[in-house]
Amino acid sequence: MPSQNTRERIETRHAIDSSTDLAAPEPEARSIHGSPTCGPAVDSEDSAERYSRQVLFAGIGAEGQRKLASGHVAIVGCGATGAAAAGLLARAGVGALTLIDRDFVEESNLQRQVLFDEADAFAALPKAEAARGKISLFNHATRVNAKVADLVPANIHELLRGADLILDGTDNFETRYLLNDYAVEQGLPWIYAAALGGYAATMNILPEPSPFRTGCLACVFPRPPQGAVETCETAGILNTAVNLAASSQATEALKYLVGAAAKMRRTLVSLDLWSNERSEISTAAPRPGCAVCGLRDFAHLRGEGRPHITLCGRNSVQIHEHHRPVDFAEMERRLKPHGIVRRNQMLLRFQREEHTITLFADGRALIQGTTDIAVARSLYARFIGS
Ligand SMILES: [Zn+2]
Repeated sequence: MPSQNTRERIETRHAIDSSTDLAAPEPEARSIHGSPTCGPAVDSEDSAERYSRQVLFAGIGAEGQRKLASGHVAIVGCGATGAAAAGLLARAGVGALTLIDRDFVEESNLQRQVLFDEADAFAALPKAEAARGKISLFNHATRVNAKVADLVPANIHELLRGADLILDGTDNFETRYLLNDYAVEQGLPWIYAAALGGYAATMNILPEPSPFRTGCLACVFPRPPQGAVETCETAGILNTAVNLAASSQATEALKYLVGAAAKMRRTLVSLDLWSNERSEISTAAPRPGCAVCGLRDFAHLRGEGRPHITLCGRNSVQIHEHHRPVDFAEMERRLKPHGIVRRNQMLLRFQREEHTITLFADGRALIQGTTDIAVARSLYARFIGS
C-alpha cells in the first residue's frame, strides 16, 4: 500500500461531489468513459439482447426486467458484500443504486472486494466512488449515486431518500441497528448480510405495511453483541463467503423489485462454507413486545446507545464506548498480525501505519493520527469491533 497521508485522504474525501442526482438525472449526462447515459436499459434493442437470458428466467420475464430498470436500491457499505451485491444488481439491470461508504480502497481489500483494482488501492480512492466508476464500465445505464459518507442518525434520512430497498453491506452492528430503526420507521424493506471467516448469513426484514411482514433485526437480536467481536481484520475472511452472502442478498433484492416479495425467504440463514455447518432460524413472526417493530421506539435513530465521540487534542478522536469490557490478552493475540501491540493492566496500545489506538479496559478508545471521526469509527469497527 503506497503511502498517502491522512490529510490528503481527508481532502480527497471532501473534494468529491461527483454523484449523479437520482431525483433529476441530466438527459445530456455522459458516463465517465464517454458514452451517453440513456433511459431504462430495457427499452432499447441493445438491452433486449443484454438481458435476454435473464428475461428468459420465468421469475423475471420482460415485465420483471422493466421493474428492475425502475428500481432504486441503496447499499450501505460498499466494501466486500456491498460491492459484490452492487455489481450483481447493476449487471441485472437495476436502474438506480445509491452507494454509501466511508472508507478508501486498500491493498488488503483486493482479495475479496470485487469492484476494486490495484490502481484504486494505489490512489486510495473512496470505495463508493471507485465502485461507481467500475459499474459505469459494464452498465452505463445504471445511475449510481456515490456518497462518501459515514451513515449516522443525522444524515440517514437524507442519504437513503428515494430508495425502494436497502441492502446491508456494513461491517458493524451499530449501523445495522440504525438501518433497522430507519427501515421500520419508513416501512421500507432491508436485507441483512454478514460474512466472516468462511461463514455467510442473510436475513430479509420486511416491516409493516408489507403484506409479507417479518420480524426485524431487534426481534431476532434484541441487543447488539456485547464485548469485543471478531471482525474480518481479526478473524480473516474467505472471498467465497463474501460472494455467497452477496449472491443470496442480491437474489432476495431481485425478488422484491420484480414484485415477488411472497417468494422472499422468511428465515435468518447462515452457512459456513469451510465447516459445512448450516443453521436457519424462522423470522416469519415479529417478536411480541419488540421495542422497534412492536413499540416503534427508535432509540438508534435518536442516536441513543451510540458511543459518544469527541475530538481530543490536536490529532486524535476519543470513542467513549461503554459496557464493552475488553480482554487485553485476547485482543493482543488478534491485533498482533496487524501492527505493533503493547499492553499493561490499564490499557492496550495498537500502532498501525500512521494511527495508534489506545484501548482501555471498558472499551473506551483513543485513536491518534486523525481528526476525522469517520476514519476513527472505521478503525474502531475494523480492529476492535462494534
Ligand atoms: Zn422487531
